[in-house]
Amino acid sequence: MSHTSTATPAAFPLTIHPHWRAAAEARGFGILQRVKDRYHLLLSCKACGATHMSKIFVVMNSQPQCPRCIEARWQADAEAAGLQWAGRDPQSRHHGFYIADCRHRLRRQFELIKRAAAGTCDVRCELCQQQKEQEEAEAQGWELIGPDPDGGPNYRLYRHPECGHEQRVARANMQTGRFGCGLCGEDWPAAPSHLYAMQFKLLNGTCLVKLGFSRNPDSRLRHQLLKHRDLDAKILKTVPMATGQLALQTEKRLHAKLQAGFPDLVAPPDLYAGELRVKSEVYFADAAQVIFAMLDAIEPEEDS
Ligand SMILES: [Zn+2]
Ligand SMILES: [Zn+2]
Ligand SMILES: [Zn+2]
Repeated sequence: MSHTSTATPAAFPLTIHPHWRAAAEARGFGILQRVKDRYHLLLSCKACGATHMSKIFVVMNSQPQCPRCIEARWQADAEAAGLQWAGRDPQSRHHGFYIADCRHRLRRQFELIKRAAAGTCDVRCELCQQQKEQEEAEAQGWELIGPDPDGGPNYRLYRHPECGHEQRVARANMQTGRFGCGLCGEDWPAAPSHLYAMQFKLLNGTCLVKLGFSRNPDSRLRHQLLKHRDLDAKILKTVPMATGQLALQTEKRLHAKLQAGFPDLVAPPDLYAGELRVKSEVYFADAAQVIFAMLDAIEPEEDS
């Protein structure tokens, strides 16, 4: 039952003392009325006209904060930092959401955006940054795993899918390709390679197909791809390629074709992350016939 209906008298005094008005005035607010209980006032902001409820104690002893003015400041900071304000984070008093130029939604501390607005730091979209670094790695035939385990700001941890080897590489060296794989050496781009299609049966019964390239598909299957030895897996088809570089380029082209033409056949990584040591380029079993046809089609054209 409500006891604030107009029919019943308020359960708290309604008197507004002049020294309260003076204190509110000095802090940029007018007092409209007492509300809720004997400790609260309804204030109106002189800057924007919005009303909000504040404790009498706050009015008398510190600075009431107008929620609309605060939000306007966050929004102004966002715009000055080159972002679009997308609202506060209901989970945290210190965080808001922002839309970057790339249209990604970022969660950031208000303080950081304030500093970015003042030009003392940068707001970088981590999704775009990661994608950019992933593409740099892929262009060299590597996969980005993540930050440097030793904490070096200029280094990242990468994986060489050809041999499964993981190693730290300076990002600048990855960009230019001036480094070699610690396991399989520097000659993989020139060495003969294979495209392959492999089939996996996950523990839940789902059948998947992976299209990839490797100097030695058999060893890749047995030693690198499977997280559990007893997983049901086999090589369905391999196509010899003159060089690793050619195999890489062809593989990328086929994946692009598959993803564009058969998006429904791309298996979501969550499905196999627990069982396979790969992050993408895995398809549902129905893709096998398409992949075979693609592999058949490249034989005459690229097997030089
Ligand atoms: Zn205001
Ligand atoms: Zn982005
Ligand atoms: Zn290697």
